[in-house]
Amino acid sequence: MRSSGELFERAVKVIPGGVNSPVRAYQSVGRFTPEERQSLGQTLASGPSVFGSPRFIDRSEGCYVYDVEGNRLIDYICSWGPMILGHNHPLVLESVIKACEKGLSFGCATEIEVEMAEFICSHIPHVEMIRMVNSGTEAVMSAIRTARGYTGRSRIIKFAGCYHGHTDSMLVSAGSGVMTSGVPDSAGVPEGCTRDTMMASYNDLKSVRDLFEACPDSVAAVIVEPVAANMGVVLPEEGFLEGLRSLCDEFGALLIFDEVITGFRLAFGGAAEYFGIRPDLVTYGKIIGAGMPVGAYGGRKDVMEMVAPAGPVYQAGTLSGNPVAMHAGLTQLQYLEAHPEVYTSLEEKGNRLFGGISRILKEKGLPASANYKASLGTLFFTEQKVRDYESAKASDTGLHGYKGYFWQMMDRGILLAPSQFEAMFISAAHTDQVLDETLEAVENALKRIF
Ligand SMILES: *Cc1c(COP(=O)(O)O)cnc(C)c1O
Repeated sequence: MRSSGELFERAVKVIPGGVNSPVRAYQSVGRFTPEERQSLGQTLASGPSVFGSPRFIDRSEGCYVYDVEGNRLIDYICSWGPMILGHNHPLVLESVIKACEKGLSFGCATEIEVEMAEFICSHIPHVEMIRMVNSGTEAVMSAIRTARGYTGRSRIIKFAGCYHGHTDSMLVSAGSGVMTSGVPDSAGVPEGCTRDTMMASYNDLKSVRDLFEACPDSVAAVIVEPVAANMGVVLPEEGFLEGLRSLCDEFGALLIFDEVITGFRLAFGGAAEYFGIRPDLVTYGKIIGAGMPVGAYGGRKDVMEMVAPAGPVYQAGTLSGNPVAMHAGLTQLQYLEAHPEVYTSLEEKGNRLFGGISRILKEKGLPASANYKASLGTLFFTEQKVRDYESAKASDTGLHGYKGYFWQMMDRGILLAPSQFEAMFISAAHTDQVLDETLEAVENALKRIF
């Protein structure tokens, strides 16, 4: 029989770290001292867990994924967001099969690209024009270039703990305090690439104002995850997003909402609609492709008209607007738009699951807390209120924290992100019964680790 362990052994020989994206690796939950291994072993012996190696998934359906061993796991990764309707939604699947029959890619203009752009521009007021790309990373990279081209300025303000893909200028180390010149957070990124990236603290408007005042005429844009979901879920406090809007206006910079996770999730119009803030540019990914590799950036017409071939900001893509991907993405978006009850229901599901987790923590007086908004949430193993990267990092990631919790949940047939600093994603396919089953598992898992 194939096993995840065996596949991983083969994978590490031919793929760096055995995975095609580091978020899939089990580095932060899969390494154990011999004593830890022993203490966990008894609990997990009966379950599907294999230490160290990531789960290799064979197929999926609704809210479940099935690993190669045949274990059925309740999935809270949901491909990191795209699967808002659950895995393998029949309408999406059908649209992909139909599109494939007509050809996989032409490298020429297609009707479906126009339909996709018209659909988004007609339903999202702050998106007047949009360009399709192949990933969230590309969307961010291009939005930043566009903002720089439009303003003729070079500096970008980002927030510690917010992730905007792996483009050079966004891989900036969190450092300490407010810095006017970013330091690379990855080998292979020259200092020149991050020199114009400045780092502020999430939920700290003063840190943003300080940066603006230090460089009043050179900030092209502020980029933010309007609900941060890449340091675990961290919510914008009252006035934070409004404050960013007015600081950008005051200093003539553009406001970019990175809605790669929140777009079409918090509401159809993403966090911008949910919180009623109008960004100048917005980036999408994940949900917009329904599981196919798609990203997009869009916003104000006068800004987007800067993009080639309409304007002087160069950006291109052989597979951008790929017809199969467009059919998948548009089918999912049309479904979401036609079924606004999905959003009310996701909000209720979030309250049921994450509210339930909060209640368990409170009743038992456990040193952990849950942050959540609608279908996004994170259980942080810290007593501190998590409101920025600093406080998120206070979490216990060890056996009496996230690592222990992760395996206890795995042992109960529940797949969580293999890192404390990620979100849990709920889909429309997670029924109340599944959520209640999960809550019971959370309660029992927490008993074992505290
Ligand atoms: C996932 C993500 C990205 C990067 O998207 P990829 O498709 O992985 O390149 C960018 N920004 C945010 C907020 C994300 O969550």
